[in-house]
Order: sequence, then C-alpha cells, then structure tokens
Amino acid sequence: MLNKTGNVQTYLGCTAGYDEADIVIFGAGYDGTTSNRPGSRFAPAAMRTESFGLETYSPYLQRDLEDIKVYDAGDLELYGRRPEVMLTLIEETVAEIAKDGKIPVMIGGEHLVTLGAVRALAKAHPDLHIIHLDAHADLRADYLGEELSHATVMRRCYDLVGDGRIFQVGIRSGTREEFEFKAAHIAQTLENFMDKPIYFTLDLDVLDPAALPGTGTPEAGGMTFLELLNDIVHLEKFNIIGCDIVELSPPYDPSGISTATACKILRELMLVMSPIPSFRA
Ligand code: MN
Ligand code: MN
Repeated sequence: MLNKTGNVQTYLGCTAGYDEADIVIFGAGYDGTTSNRPGSRFAPAAMRTESFGLETYSPYLQRDLEDIKVYDAGDLELYGRRPEVMLTLIEETVAEIAKDGKIPVMIGGEHLVTLGAVRALAKAHPDLHIIHLDAHADLRADYLGEELSHATVMRRCYDLVGDGRIFQVGIRSGTREEFEFKAAHIAQTLENFMDKPIYFTLDLDVLDPAALPGTGTPEAGGMTFLELLNDIVHLEKFNIIGCDIVELSPPYDPSGISTATACKILRELMLVMSPIPSFRA
C-alpha cells in the first residue's frame, strides 16, 4: 500500500503516532569519545533493519509489540558534534518526550549519551535513581583528562544524583580507584529503589562477548542472554521513566548476531515498560 505517513523506517512494531504513544524511541548514534573501537554510531540504523527478523510476540512475556503504542522518532544528528553539544541535543529531546508524559527509550551510540538523558530526567525528578548494567564501572573522574567520556559517564551521573542512587550489575572491569568509589558511593541493594523514578541504562557489553561480540570494549566473564532477560523481566516491579541501550558496534558484528540480540532485548524492554491493555491484565 502507498505510504502516505512518511518515508521513515521504524523499529519493528513501533508504528503508533506520537500523540497516542506511551513510549518514544530515538537513535543517538554518537561514538566520538569511544576509547577503544568506534562504530556504535551505526547501531540505531542497524537495529531498525535487523529488528524485522524478530517476531512482534514475546513468548517470555506473553505480550506483543502490536498491543502497545510506541513511536519511533528516528535518529538525532549527533556525529561530528562536540560532546557538550551532543549532550544538550539529547537532553532537550528527552525533556520534551518526558514533558509529554511518554517514556523515552534511547538507542546509542556510546555510553556517554546516557548523561544527556539523565540530565533531563534528574531535573524533572529530583529523586531519580539509576539502574546500570555494564561490564565497566564507568566511574572514572576523568579519562585522559576528559571529564566527558564513555569511561566517566556514570561518575557524571553520580555528580547529578548523589550517594546511594545508582545500582550497578555485571561490573567486572575498572581501576582500583573506581572500585573503591563504587564501594563507598554506589548502592549495595535495590531496597530504596522500589518506589522511586528509575532510569535504566544497559551497556550491552554486560553480556559475555560470546553472546554479544559486536561491541567496542568486549570484556570476558559476562552474563548470558537468559540471565539478562531475567533481570529485564524483574524491571516490571520498578517505575522506569526512561531507558537506553548503548555500545552495540555493528562493524564488529559481521555475523549480525549481536545486532539481532540487541533487537530482542529492546523488544523485551519495551514490552516490560508498557502499560498492558486491560483485557490482558
Ligand atoms: Mn558503559
Ligand atoms: Mn561497558
């Protein structure tokens, strides 16, 4: 049928109009501070294309993307911009989506993009808490003198939200200083997170490189897809007001399995966060 609504390829099942949508996804394909292997700038487009290899139905959650309302806003034009300009563009985008009462879902890009979203949501929600899945602590005060880097992003988020407001899962790489900082300032349990607004940030390198080789800084010893899925299912108990998936790097994914896995994780995340129609409740 002739497309009269716009010549934009959306992520699988994300065909709602903006006004009716509960969730708005957008791409933030920026990799300007990547320390090891760049390429995550290509992830949003690669995931959109690969997503059509998936079913809209999740047998894990027994929910279907066709039953929820998601709008795909396309990609921000970020590459080549200075980090502060990139962060401001993301902050403005997330602030507008949140102001309209919708949940922003950002597809990175490198992990620094998270800071833009957290800046927006921490302003709107002074009691914002963050759940962070990653192989890396990302708690450096600076990286080679730069305060804005994917290696410092959670430290910059900490500067905004403070002690005990970030919970980390899967961390297996960092400096001695980062692990000491983590022990002193990062939440040890999720006890105080249950009734708080939560930002969920998923650095895909939390998965074992055997499950997801296509990333800029692979780190052995990570979780399986099913372990990650189990964590995502548990997010249903929390009030997630925004989230992101970052650090997929399609140039390091010649087989396409990492991109396919990222798409499947995104499907499950959107299904977990969506209000489910009452006939399914
Ligand atoms: Mn990270
Ligand atoms: Mn990482």
